Amino acid sequence: MPTYVGIMGWPVSHSRSPAMHNAAFQALGMDWRYLFLPVAPDDVEEAVCGLRALRFAGANVTVPHKRAVIPALDRVTVEARAIGAVNTIVNRDGVLEGHNTDAIGFLRALREAGFEPRGCRAVVLGAGGAARAIVYTLLAAKATVTVVNRTLSRARHLAEELGALFRVHIPTLPLSAGPALQTALAKADLLVNATSVGMAPNVDASPLPDGVTIPPTLTLYETIYTPRETALMGQAHRAGARVIGGLGMLLHQGAVAFELWTATSPPLEVMRRAIEAEL
Ligand code: NAP
Repeated sequence: MPTYVGIMGWPVSHSRSPAMHNAAFQALGMDWRYLFLPVAPDDVEEAVCGLRALRFAGANVTVPHKRAVIPALDRVTVEARAIGAVNTIVNRDGVLEGHNTDAIGFLRALREAGFEPRGCRAVVLGAGGAARAIVYTLLAAKATVTVVNRTLSRARHLAEELGALFRVHIPTLPLSAGPALQTALAKADLLVNATSVGMAPNVDASPLPDGVTIPPTLTLYETIYTPRETALMGQAHRAGARVIGGLGMLLHQGAVAFELWTATSPPLEVMRRAIEAEL
């Protein structure tokens, strides 16, 4: 009997994770299968319990369930609880553990691209699940962070919670505050786009308001990986800034999940090639 894992989301058919993990299992000769698990919002709790009943080794969790799965789990890591999102579930003999591998995946992707976040000044666009994981990671690396979001109250909520945890003040701005955002960017080393603006099919959209420019000294980390080059990445390239695409975060969050489920070192290059072929 193969061992099963999968990805829960709604919708989920766009996910690249099955291709990435199945390629890894195949390369290592492991009799494991990674399935698409479409789960409607009302069925989240039952679906999580089903992992136990069906003896799945675990699952990934994607939009919109990363927060909703938490009450159905037996244990949640300190990090995932602070971030408020679980993207990886591990079934340890019937005990369901929740992890957040987006945070470490982002850190590994940044470092792999040669950017050391320790002590840097970062501006993070967005206040959803990805932004929370990224702000957590940056604060843990002793970076200073400004959070900019369309809905200011959501940015403030994030800043209050994670600021209290790390005992730092996190400034917030609405995404519409062009001049203040320009000032923040002028002082920053790193800009992270953790909004969904620019994601396919709205590939011409940029999260930056009209008139705001990217300083050439900045490094842009774009979390979006479809398209490979977003409108914001184009703006940053034209400005002469350094640009890192979202594929690395996808790869490394998956690699950490793979290791948690299988206790086996993930074949990173096989997984990278599988995502690239999918994209
Ligand atoms: P989410 O929780 O739904 O958050 C979405 C964010 O985008 C919010 O801050 C939202 O602002 C903002 N937003 C949405 N539409 C907007 C618009 N029209 N104008 C301005 N802001 C807008 O989603 P998430 O899970 O954090 O994902 C965010 C992005 O991260 C997605 O593009 C996703 O693909 C990417 N991601 C990448 C990886 C990876 O491995 N590379 C992993 C996780 C996520 P409001 O609060 O105002 O609604």
